[in-house]
Amino acid sequence: MRILVTGGAGLIGSHLVDKLMEKEKSEVIVADNYFTGSKDNLKKWIGHPRFELIRHDIIRPLFVEVDQIYHLACPASPIFYKYNSVKTIKTNVMGTLNMLGLAKRLRARILFTSTSEVYGDSLEHPQKETYWGNVNPIGVRSCYDEGKRMAETLMFDYHRQYGIEIRIARIFNTYGPRMNIDDGRVVSNFIAQAIRNEPLTVQLPGTQTRSFCYVLDLVDGLTQLMEGTDTGPINLGNPGEFTMNELAKAVQELINPEVQISEVENTPDDPRQRKPDITKAKERLGVPRT
Ligand code: NAD
Ligand code: UDP
Ligand code: UDP
Repeated sequence: MRILVTGGAGLIGSHLVDKLMEKEKSEVIVADNYFTGSKDNLKKWIGHPRFELIRHDIIRPLFVEVDQIYHLACPASPIFYKYNSVKTIKTNVMGTLNMLGLAKRLRARILFTSTSEVYGDSLEHPQKETYWGNVNPIGVRSCYDEGKRMAETLMFDYHRQYGIEIRIARIFNTYGPRMNIDDGRVVSNFIAQAIRNEPLTVQLPGTQTRSFCYVLDLVDGLTQLMEGTDTGPINLGNPGEFTMNELAKAVQELINPEVQISEVENTPDDPRQRKPDITKAKERLGVPRT
C-alpha cells in the first residue's frame, strides 16, 4: 500500500505519518509546502526506505502513483489562514481539485480533512452532520469556511460523477505535541503565555466555547474512517465543552498560578459555541482508543 499525505509536515499530518509508517509494509509520500508545517516534525522518517518527502504546493498538479490519499494540506490556525486568504481559497479549491484529479486517474481512495467551521456560527448545538451551517460568505474567515465547504462539494461531485471513493472528516479543535508555539490557536497561546509569565489573552466575551481533542485520538479516527465503508461527512472530535474563561483558568492552575488573565478584543465572526455530536462516529467507526 502506497499512501500520499498532503500537509504531512503539520500537526495532524505528522502524527498520521507516524501511525502509517508503523505498519510494516506501507510506503508513505508526504507533499507539503512548509507554510505552517516543518521538516522537523518528520525527522525520524527522513532517509527511511519506505518514506519520501516532497516540497510541493498542492495548488499545482501532482503526479505520483499511490493507492490512498489523505488530503490534509491547508493552514488550520485562523492567523495563518487569514494571512493570505486568496491562497487559502486556492489551497482548498484548486488543491482539492488536483487531489481529486489524481484520485480519479489512479482510482485511489481519498480522505479530506474538513472542519467544524463548515457549521459557522452554529444555530444548532451540539452540531450534527445533518446541520447545513450558518456561515458568513464574505467575512474574514470565509476563505477557510467556504473553501472547506466548496472542497466538500467537489469531493461529493467527483464521487457521484466519476465513482471516486471518498471519505470526509469534519474535525473539531485538535491539540497536541508539535503544535507550533506561535501557531496562534488558543491552546498553544495560553500555554506559551503561562510559561513566559505573560497574561493569558482571553478574547471577549470569554464565554464562547470549544471542545478539544487530543491529536492521537483524532488520528485514530482518520485511519478508521479511511479503512471503513462510510463516505462521511463524519464529525471527529471530543464532545467535552469548555468556555475560554474556563480554559484560561485550567492553564493557570496547571502551569502558573501567578499568571494574569486579561481580556482582549475578539476577531470578527468568532463562533460562539462549538461541540461535536459524535453519535455517527461512535456507531460507524468503532470504539475510541483508551
Ligand atoms: P497545520 O497547519 O499544522 O498543518 C497543515 C499542513 O499543510 C502544514 O504542514 C502546511 O505546511 C501544509 N500546507 C498548507 N498549505 C499547503 C499547500 N498549498 N500545499 C502544500 N502544503 C500545504 O494544521 P493541522 O492542525 O495539522 O490541520 C491539518 C488539516 O486538518 C487541515 O486541513 C485543517 O484544515 C484540518 N483541521 C484541523 C483542525 C485542528 O484543530 N487542528 C480542526 C479542523 C480541521
Ligand atoms: N491532476 C493531478 N494529478 C493527476 C491527475 C490530475 O494533479 O495525476 C490535476 C489536473 O491537472 C487537473 C485536476 O487534477 O487540474 C483535475 O483533474 P481532472 O482529470 O478531473 O480534470 P481535467 O484535467 O479533465 O480538467
Ligand atoms: N482565543 C482566545 N485567546 C487567544 C486565541 C484564541 O481567547 O489567544 C479564543 C478565540 O476567540 C476562539 C477560541 O479561542 O473563541 C478558539 O480559537 P482558535 O483560534 O484556537 O480556533 P478556532 O476554533 O477559532 O478556529
